[in-house]
Amino acid sequence: LGEQVSSLLDFDGLSVHPLPLLEDVEIPAPTIRAPSWLDRIVTSAREERLTHTYGKSYRDIVRAFRLSFENAPDLVARPESEDDVARVLDWASGEDIAVVPYGGGTSVNGGVEAGGSERLRGVVSLDTRRMGRVVEIDRQSLLARVQAGVLGPELEAQLRPHGLTLRHYPQSFELSTLGGWIATRAGGHFATLYTHIDELVASVRMITPSGLFATRTLPASGAGPSPDRLVIGSEGILGVITEATMRVHVRPSFRAKASIHFQRFEQGVAAARALAQSGLHPSNARLLDGDEALLNAVALDGSSVLMVAFESADHPLEAWIERAIAVAASCGGACPGGPRLSYSDEHRADGRGGHADEAWKSAFLEAPYLQSALISLGVLVDTFETACTWSRFEALHQDVTQSVRSALHRVAGKGRVTCRLTHIYPDGPAPYYTFIGPAKRGGELEQWAEIKAAASEALMRNGATITHHHAVGRTHRPWYDRERPDLFASALRAAKASLDPKGILNPGVLIDPQVDRDHT
Ligand SMILES: Cc1cc2nc3c(=O)[nH]c(=O)nc-3n(C[C@H](O)[C@H](O)[C@H](O)COP(=O)(O)OP(=O)(O)OC[C@H]3O[C@@H](n4cnc5c(N)ncnc54)[C@H](O)[C@@H]3O)c2cc1C
Repeated sequence: LGEQVSSLLDFDGLSVHPLPLLEDVEIPAPTIRAPSWLDRIVTSAREERLTHTYGKSYRDIVRAFRLSFENAPDLVARPESEDDVARVLDWASGEDIAVVPYGGGTSVNGGVEAGGSERLRGVVSLDTRRMGRVVEIDRQSLLARVQAGVLGPELEAQLRPHGLTLRHYPQSFELSTLGGWIATRAGGHFATLYTHIDELVASVRMITPSGLFATRTLPASGAGPSPDRLVIGSEGILGVITEATMRVHVRPSFRAKASIHFQRFEQGVAAARALAQSGLHPSNARLLDGDEALLNAVALDGSSVLMVAFESADHPLEAWIERAIAVAASCGGACPGGPRLSYSDEHRADGRGGHADEAWKSAFLEAPYLQSALISLGVLVDTFETACTWSRFEALHQDVTQSVRSALHRVAGKGRVTCRLTHIYPDGPAPYYTFIGPAKRGGELEQWAEIKAAASEALMRNGATITHHHAVGRTHRPWYDRERPDLFASALRAAKASLDPKGILNPGVLIDPQVDRDHT
């Protein structure tokens, strides 16, 4: 890998950093103890505390390599039921102890870090993974009631015997949970129409320090502001999501795909917009710029590639894919391989084969593992994503790529910035950027912070959002604070004061609770 990266990106001096060993890590002794009646579900075991210290961001992996675990949570709770969750929250509220909900721990923004607060005596990481069952299926209404700690593959495995699927595939699908998706408003890789988890939630159950917050399962409702929407995106600051009733689908059997090549990225952008505004609603539509296409072995000649796919459980899709190709062709696209149609009653999981979209799928699933390997080689590599209107995209893209490129050159001497549109909407795209450069051993966090700030400032300058699907957590707070209306922050603070009066849940994420403000 080191040789490939050196030759492709012209980085030299890459060497493998030894993997840290658990026994070399020093962590402070826990500052709190749980009462004996919580012994069944709460532990202070060292390995549990270590593995709940971080999420999976670049910063997290670098800090783990440095054996820096001074923020390890004091205790880890693994509740098995809503009653268990309520017991942990009651005890923690009474004792002024922070509780950080933890699903799969794939947060990339410091969302699961044991961020305490001066007024709190310690931190418990509350891991939901022992609540992982599909509890009930309403086949007639295509609904499934599911516990929040289920991982993506476990959920699909439980739905498959019923011929059903949630069809929500974030890139972190393998290791993230339903509760995490709801808490972070995750974006799946069905890239038009129902992109975020929001649309798939029919109702939720959340245990808060003030009691159970449960909403009614309805196909739609016009009864005031939606209580579901208070929970969706709450990032663990209002309560612990324990269950949700999800809108599921019959597993698709008809598929149609095409990879359309463009000499210039701008032509691909025009085609993506035309497609998003055509009313065709492909289940997948993503545009890779020339570098992305090259690095992911999708196209080796520098062309940008738009990958389009449709799927249905009901009807063949020939007409849809042919129309999509025609729309893209009117913007300068060529589809040398033509459309590929298939019928099967099983989703192909390996995704390996000769076609461009299959090369992409392999690269997509392997990317997270690749990032960890690259970090161990001394490569600075991270991603960020946003969304903006089509009318703002050109200026945003230019500003972001220039700002990040100059920051990379300042801190690393060289590097590359690549872009893909991961999601497309009638009113705008969600661009996703990757930056990669040589890291300075020992100075990685400072290098990263300068690039991240340059990127985030460019997003703010151009009226874009600080995140389309990576949530806010702690890392995005400074820019989120500028993006959301102040009055919304006060309203959220008031909601938190009602559901979590002692402010114990995930302090530092999204807002500063009223109690922290009073305290200072
Ligand atoms: C390689 C990689 C690729 C990724 N790709 C995507 C992507 O394509 N789309 C996307 O949306 N995100 C993506 N992410 C980000 C991350 O996977 C999502 O934010 C995901 O939804 C987090 O789920 P989780 O179960 O891992 O939650 P965690 O990381 O454990 O927690 C995330 C946040 O949710 C809170 N939380 C978790 N569970 C609960 C609960 N039951 N109740 C209340 N609060 C809770 C936590 O306190 C924290 O604030 C990616 C991350 C990685 C590392």
